[in-house]
Amino acid sequence: MSAAHRGLGPGATIGVLGGGQLGRMMAVVARQMGYRIIVLDPSPRCPTAQVSDGVVVGTLDDVEAAKHLASQVDVITLDTEHVPAEVLSVLETIVPVRPNAAVLRTIQDRLVQKQFLDRIGLPQAVWAPVDDVHAALAKVGRPAILKVRRAGYDGKGQVRIAPGDDPVALFGRLRGEPAVAEEVVGFTREISVILARGLDGQIRIYPVAENAHRKHILHTTRAPAPMPEARRRQAEAMAVSVAEALGHVGVMAVEMFELADGRLLINEIAPRTHNSGHYTYGACATSQFEQHIRAVCGVPLGDPRPLTGAVMVNLIGDLWSPGGQAGAGSPGSHGSPGDQGPPAWGEVLARPEARLHLYGKDAPAPGRKMGHVLLLDDDTDRALATAESLIAALRSRS
Ligand code: ADP
Ligand code: MG
Repeated sequence: MSAAHRGLGPGATIGVLGGGQLGRMMAVVARQMGYRIIVLDPSPRCPTAQVSDGVVVGTLDDVEAAKHLASQVDVITLDTEHVPAEVLSVLETIVPVRPNAAVLRTIQDRLVQKQFLDRIGLPQAVWAPVDDVHAALAKVGRPAILKVRRAGYDGKGQVRIAPGDDPVALFGRLRGEPAVAEEVVGFTREISVILARGLDGQIRIYPVAENAHRKHILHTTRAPAPMPEARRRQAEAMAVSVAEALGHVGVMAVEMFELADGRLLINEIAPRTHNSGHYTYGACATSQFEQHIRAVCGVPLGDPRPLTGAVMVNLIGDLWSPGGQAGAGSPGSHGSPGDQGPPAWGEVLARPEARLHLYGKDAPAPGRKMGHVLLLDDDTDRALATAESLIAALRSRS
């Protein structure tokens, strides 16, 4: 058997493009398994670099920096889909890149992603390209959401247009960025399917996650999502279709809207580990991070089986400053100066079912994901209630 067939075993070096929390959790498990990790990021102190074997400092569109990374590693993967596909095309001539440039080209532009979903016949919200905002709204109706085609996350680069609004003025807020328009979907619930697809095409699927957002940012995930068996199988089948049609290698998340009549629409695809899959790191036999490492190294995938029910709650930068001024440098303006800084973790640490994850970000800001708490509890209704009481306690800084 050639080395390529055996895959890259422990001892190999993995390059990661982007040094956020996803790369960090990937690096922790990779190093636990005996792999080496080198990360490309503009900051030598980024969350991933803090737990890596090496860092190449550079922006994600810096081809020379990326080539320098490629020269030191056996395979390259990413912690964000916002790495230009052209950079990945260059890297592919040096070292395997998983997922590859073609996958990223389809995903990183919302317009191309929506065309792809239409082409493979999967349901999604009514949408239109925004060349002329009035023409786009004529197709999708109102209320509508405009989303920039590239580089949006956590609701950034989105505006909502209600029936009485001036669409030209709101479109102007996107500063001329190319955009798509979508109908506002009256969903009953948001869910996501996290799966991994190996180099040999094998697929492993995690329990479906139920996601609640606040201000367009993921607030809680509950897994497994309580749902009828047939609907779960349908959600899984849709996600598998996406992964296979893309020829994806690695972990992938498919976000979906669930409608009152039980239909599922695909909201968006993330070709990487995903915030709504953080619960797998602690609640499943193999975390999404280990699974991603296994997939991109071409070794057999692990068991995604859940060991317990779980709820994940995100810790957003606002908690670092209850007045909402985190990182604004004006400690006197809200509350007392003593209120600035990390919340008190006592209540979280005191709960035996709670696992605290902090990402090592030194600049808390409103809306910034700083960490999360995972609650391991088969009674996920109770865990959702616990999550709210913990957040309330952190907010009151008790
Ligand atoms: P991103 O996660 O990249 O910021 P999304 O398209 O997933 O962008 O939007 C963030 C959240 O905004 C979604 O999870 C959902 O809560 C809400 N949202 C997005 N698109 C729609 C839509 N067409 N109808 C209703 N809600 C939407
Ligand atoms: Mg999303």
